[in-house]
Amino acid sequence: MKCSLCNKRAFFKGPLGAYCEEHLIESVRERARKEIEGVNGKILLAVSGGKDSLVLMDVMTHIYDKEKLMAVTVVEGAGSYRLKEVEVAKKFAQRLGIKYYYVTFKELFGLTLDEMVSRGKFSPCTYCGVFRRRALEHLAEKEGAVVATGHTLDDEAHTALLNFLRGSWDDILKLNSRVRLKPLRKVYEVEVTAYAKAIGVPFQEEECPYIVTRPSLRARFRERLFELEEEKPGTLLKWRETLERLGTPERKVSYCKLCGYPTSPNREVCRACELAMEVGARVPKRLRP
Ligand code: SF4
Ligand code: ZN
Repeated sequence: MKCSLCNKRAFFKGPLGAYCEEHLIESVRERARKEIEGVNGKILLAVSGGKDSLVLMDVMTHIYDKEKLMAVTVVEGAGSYRLKEVEVAKKFAQRLGIKYYYVTFKELFGLTLDEMVSRGKFSPCTYCGVFRRRALEHLAEKEGAVVATGHTLDDEAHTALLNFLRGSWDDILKLNSRVRLKPLRKVYEVEVTAYAKAIGVPFQEEECPYIVTRPSLRARFRERLFELEEEKPGTLLKWRETLERLGTPERKVSYCKLCGYPTSPNREVCRACELAMEVGARVPKRLRP
């Protein structure tokens, strides 16, 4: 099988065609470049240490000014697996020549994720998701940067489906907003994996212990969408491009009366503060209200 863009042997066949290593890398970087068009300030890369985030780091160092990039890992404390990923991310950042650091839930919120879960009534992913988002929002504010995450096309599709089931059209349209950059949002998970292999990303992923023991709805969507894409290659990318044409919802925010961070217009207290009160954690105040 040959690369669809040159005569070299294809190293990967994905939903958008067959590519040699060079053209796969170029195609991924080109899609990412379009996603960050017009951005020129500091960018804080949210890095879990898993494959997607290492690919994000590599892609960004090739399409953006390295001096304006920094990477951070938020360690929730769900076992030691994240600390192993911190080591991988740190070494990879050194190899790429970008600044890297990590912060823990304990430092920022006073409790580890395990402690939150043992005290609260919601699922681990609820505390993890809300506090991780807040951690990044807070660190970006401190750095005067915008956050970029390694969400892929598949991740965006799972999120849209979850929001659809919740009946939240505004949340589906919010996926089009650029409050956070998602340079890989038009790149398939399988392309990210192939890119990681092509550049020799040192990944050795261990799944989060919570996803292994309590599979979430998101994990089930992942399997179903994978099957759908196998049957009709290109489905997710077409869906993403159609969604993009629908625009973004009107931005309506109010500000949490406890921490000062933006929250939904119908709330006085944000979700992070609400969960923090439930489990006895603390939420850092917004620096520039
Ligand atoms: Fe957090 Fe693990 Fe849930 Fe992912 S699966 S949101 S890392 S607790
Ligand atoms: Zn709050």
